[in-house]
Amino acid sequence: MDSQMLSTAVKALKSHFFDVYTCKTGEEAAQLAMRLIPSDHTVSWGGSTTIDTIGLKDRLRQAGYRLIDRDTAKTPQERKELMRQGLLADTFLTSANAISLDGYLVNIDGNGNRVAAMCYGPSNVVVIAGINKLAPDLASAQDRARNVAAPQNAQRLQKPTPCVSTGQCHDCLSPETICSYFLNTRISSPPGRIKVILVEEPLGY
Ligand code: SF4
Repeated sequence: MDSQMLSTAVKALKSHFFDVYTCKTGEEAAQLAMRLIPSDHTVSWGGSTTIDTIGLKDRLRQAGYRLIDRDTAKTPQERKELMRQGLLADTFLTSANAISLDGYLVNIDGNGNRVAAMCYGPSNVVVIAGINKLAPDLASAQDRARNVAAPQNAQRLQKPTPCVSTGQCHDCLSPETICSYFLNTRISSPPGRIKVILVEEPLGY
């Protein structure tokens, strides 16, 4: 079933003008991502357990890329500024909260920097997603993002939101919600700007 889902997703994403790649493992995905990032690019990323898990940031550091890394900030103001600068990186790395088999990327964001960079700014966007992110259609992808990914991310970030204890979205209006912006990416515009690497193992939330 997983391989059938994978081939359906690949076909749909390609028809929506994403460049699509498949890998067996996160390790392979990290190697491939490195090949998709020109050596003269500045690189930034959105918060992503997937990117952390596959060790891509360390590979980039070792290869000498110029990175815009908000985690190097010494003050909240500097962190905010690095997040703004990330919107003009050449390459932006992220995962997706869900990918529908009919070719949509679905993402929820608290600050908005991640979904902003997916829409516009960086000329090269590399999305790495495990097979666990696939959902049958747009509605179920949105449900996954809201009721699976967001509560787990809220838990990871130790947010005081009701989903942390129940594992379900309560449509909260907490000022600390991580669900400020919902983005459905239907088309890669221009074609090929967004590269999607689908990994045949579970990664992230
Ligand atoms: S809207 Fe609130 S309750 Fe729902 S997933 Fe987001 S942070 Fe959790």
